[in-house]
Amino acid sequence: MNDKARAALAAYRESTKGQPRPKRPSLKRAIWAMCKDCIFDPMGGGSWRQQVERCTSPECPLYEVRPRSASTDTEKVTTRCDSAQEISDSAHGIEVKP
Ligand code: SF4
Repeated sequence: MNDKARAALAAYRESTKGQPRPKRPSLKRAIWAMCKDCIFDPMGGGSWRQQVERCTSPECPLYEVRPRSASTDTEKVTTRCDSAQEISDSAHGIEVKP
């Protein structure tokens, strides 16, 4: 996670401190919100999703699962689906052998 993402997370936690916990968002929506908070610059050109697609921080844990459009890179979509399946398998205790 880069410094901007870390700062956005700290600001979010501080702003919601002491408040009742909101309804739990989906994992997908949580990732989208994190990436948008991290990178979106209204003056940066393009939509927030386009800016997230252009993210240049492969060391970020969310990099492989960040929102991307299917039309821009089919290989990345395959990777994203594979990652989602691995997460799902792991959550359900399924061991996948290569
Ligand atoms: S993947 Fe990129 S945009 Fe998303 S949180 Fe990580 S650094 Fe930010």
